[in-house]
Amino acid sequence: MPTVSHVMQVVEAQLRSGVLKCLAGGCGGTFSPWWYGVERPVVGLGGAAELVRPRRAICGSCGVTRVLLPDVMLRRRQYRVEVIGAALLLAAGGMAWTRVAAEIGVPFETVRGWLRRFTRRADLVRSWLLGLLDALVDDPWLPAGQAGPAGALGVLAGLHAQMPARWPLVAGLSPWQLAARLSRAGLLAPAWPPPVINASAPVT
Ligand SMILES: [Zn+2]
Repeated sequence: MPTVSHVMQVVEAQLRSGVLKCLAGGCGGTFSPWWYGVERPVVGLGGAAELVRPRRAICGSCGVTRVLLPDVMLRRRQYRVEVIGAALLLAAGGMAWTRVAAEIGVPFETVRGWLRRFTRRADLVRSWLLGLLDALVDDPWLPAGQAGPAGALGVLAGLHAQMPARWPLVAGLSPWQLAARLSRAGLLAPAWPPPVINASAPVT
């Protein structure tokens, strides 16, 4: 699993080469480096924490600034997306949340917060992922329809399996990193849905 600081270097390189575009109201301007966000610890599987200072970028056209989270992080979450994903998957498989918490070594309240948020929006996430599958994959196969968290995670797995054929850039990402990237780190953010994806450049 790549360290967060390695992923940050990738973000930095993308930022400096001008491939990151502004999404504000179809602006399309180019982002450049603009100071940093607040430094914070990010905890991985097994409990090891890494200190991360996310990059802040400014749009050359409209002047909006944005904190660029690497795709191993979700907004407002202290744990790597793989840890959160492991919890969602275990719970979707029917494990009680107290046991999920013990299994992945994360405090109960934290796990309960993730699961509540995800369960409440699971059907919306599923429709959102189905829309992306349609927009980003040629002749997609659809996973068997299922409601709730398991259904949403099934579509995520389908997208993860099929998307690299047309978008090789995502081939090295885990399903959770893909979810983080496509939702602009907003999979568990208070507001849903995340900003609209530009279907001609969904992964920059
Ligand atoms: Zn802009």
